[in-house]
Amino acid sequence: KVDEFLKSNEIAIDDPEQTGLKPILDFSHVDLDGRISKALEKYPTPTPIQAASWPFLLSGKDVVGVAETGSGKTLGFGVPAVNNFLRLGKQGLKILCVSPTRELAVQIYDNLAEVTKSTSVKCTVLYGGVPKYEQIENLKGANVVVATPGRLIDIINDGAINLGTVDYLVLDEADRMLEKGFEQDIKTIMQNTAGASRQTVMFTATWPKEVRELASSFMNNPVKVNIGNRD
Ligand code: ADP
Ligand code: MG
Repeated sequence: KVDEFLKSNEIAIDDPEQTGLKPILDFSHVDLDGRISKALEKYPTPTPIQAASWPFLLSGKDVVGVAETGSGKTLGFGVPAVNNFLRLGKQGLKILCVSPTRELAVQIYDNLAEVTKSTSVKCTVLYGGVPKYEQIENLKGANVVVATPGRLIDIINDGAINLGTVDYLVLDEADRMLEKGFEQDIKTIMQNTAGASRQTVMFTATWPKEVRELASSFMNNPVKVNIGNRD
């Protein structure tokens, strides 16, 4: 059944450590926090990228996901992030999602706010083009920050955020971030998070050399999940 699922959805999983983890074909096959399961009830099954990446992300591994737009990547990285936060009783700012545009950052924020709505997990979003004051106020007590690189660097430079406690870092649309010239900002953000103990997730629609280099420079033996033969 798993083989059939992988084949029919053109899913290739490259698991360097051969963990033997299998895709989660049905929500009932994954032990999620009840409040998260409840928020997922409107969906029939996990999408292919969710099915294939969740087992690895839930077990703490780094994952590179290559999948097209509209494939459900936000909950792909968001559900494991929030589930592990709750399961392990984490506190403080632990989850950081970096996104190339304000519009995408707000979409991610909306998705995560929805999934966490009946929990005490606090999400907030940072983007440019508006005054910083309110965004900085909203950082108080935040557990999840979604941000565009420019505004995040700005707020780091103000000394108004400490990323040292972040242990789950997502680079969403990594290829677009590099195209937009955010490479140095991404590196600075990396350096501000807790390197060794950090779980790192990267999602991208394409897999060119620049993105591969970025992955190899800051990820730890990532599992690669490729949907639809995208490289
Ligand atoms: P991507 O980041 O890959 O472009 P999104 O995460 O924005 O995609 O998701 C695209 C759409 O799919 C959203 O409207 C989202 O609510 C929906 N979606 C997410 N997960 C599922 C699922 N398991 N089943 C059906 N729809 C889903
Ligand atoms: Mg997306």
